[in-house]
Amino acid sequence: MSTRARFDRGHTDDLISFLAASPSPYHAVASAAERLEKAGFRQVGETDAWDASTGGKYVLRGGAIIAWFVPESATPHTPYRVIGAHTDSPNLRVKPLPDSGGHGWRQVAVEIYGGPLLNSWLDRDLGLAGRLSLRDGTSRLVNIDRALLRVPQLAIHMDRGVVSDGLKLDKQKHMQPIWGLGDDVREGDLIRFVAEECGLDAADITGWDLMTHPIEPPAYLGRDRELLAGPRMDNLLSVHACTAALATAATAPDADALPYIPVLAAFDHEENGSQSDTGADGPLLGTVLERSVFARGGTYEDKARAFAGTVCLSSDTGHAIHPNYAERHDPTHHPRANRGPILKVNVNNRYATDGGGRAVFAAACEKAGVPFQSFVSNNAMPCGTTIGPITAARHGIQTVDVGVAILSMHSARELCGADDPHMLADALLAFLEG
Ligand code: ZN
Repeated sequence: MSTRARFDRGHTDDLISFLAASPSPYHAVASAAERLEKAGFRQVGETDAWDASTGGKYVLRGGAIIAWFVPESATPHTPYRVIGAHTDSPNLRVKPLPDSGGHGWRQVAVEIYGGPLLNSWLDRDLGLAGRLSLRDGTSRLVNIDRALLRVPQLAIHMDRGVVSDGLKLDKQKHMQPIWGLGDDVREGDLIRFVAEECGLDAADITGWDLMTHPIEPPAYLGRDRELLAGPRMDNLLSVHACTAALATAATAPDADALPYIPVLAAFDHEENGSQSDTGADGPLLGTVLERSVFARGGTYEDKARAFAGTVCLSSDTGHAIHPNYAERHDPTHHPRANRGPILKVNVNNRYATDGGGRAVFAAACEKAGVPFQSFVSNNAMPCGTTIGPITAARHGIQTVDVGVAILSMHSARELCGADDPHMLADALLAFLEG
């Protein structure tokens, strides 16, 4: 089974649509589910009884999605091949009593989610999106995708030190967006506005998870349009590549003869530590994989055999060599844009990759016909972490950290090579197909 170059720039075009349609984790999982539905996947309820049927299935829970394809050839102890990512990105999120302001300005009180580059959120036109929880127990997505809010930077005339001393932002005082004019700020104004936008009665909105997003759409950039600029590439770039790889694996002519059960696991809350019912440090993935074994008539022994043979490629963004700060990188590890996905290594287990994991990823890339690069941080500059080590420890499955090298990680608008997303998808697909 050859998987050479199954994805191309068409994949990156679709990534642009995916990013634009996914201003919140809840939208991201809906965008993934929409693509999986087109590939024949069907949603299964967590409170329903599961059966032994084959084919593509998925579970949605908040901002997380677990999807898997059971081939005809599967036994109860068939191992899984998991590709993992996270759906959340650093941003500004609406506080419980958001209606605020002063001096004639209306403002929305926000909390800082994760670790954004705060400066990158200044002077951008922002929309508002997320999830509304309704009185009748249902929830619905909302996306007000127009210039609605803005965090205005202080004029240079009132902050003369900004050039010499750098910009200093107080997370509480300086990051509250304005969204209009008025002295008559009343509690409930924002939710009444959101209700109106959605054609709902404000009294029916009894809970909400709302966040801001830059409305500028993603765009190809550079002399030859060889780069892609856009929001939330950390880590919707990976969620999108994982979704495309799983959908392609499940619709290939020989899908029912796959030696593994391919799985997509996209979690929420990576940016603040993964400890939630929809985060990688929760039981969601393990419960789904275990229930799938039992639904196929398996025993605890079958589950243990399946998990022992399971491997996970956890994909997240990493750092491309920055031309203005090359000294911040390790002297010999310089990931470049459009040179293929990266293998992420850290011997102190901030990344889960080991030599055996490297071999797994090298084999997948070789089979896919894509190059890969190694990322390791400068010893004086500790690296970030991701869901890889958590997944390995939580479920006891071999895990390899991979991804795509980008610039401006955690900026409101990040930058990557336009060909790396489709090379990542090719490597993930080759891995799923074994
Ligand atoms: Zn990330």
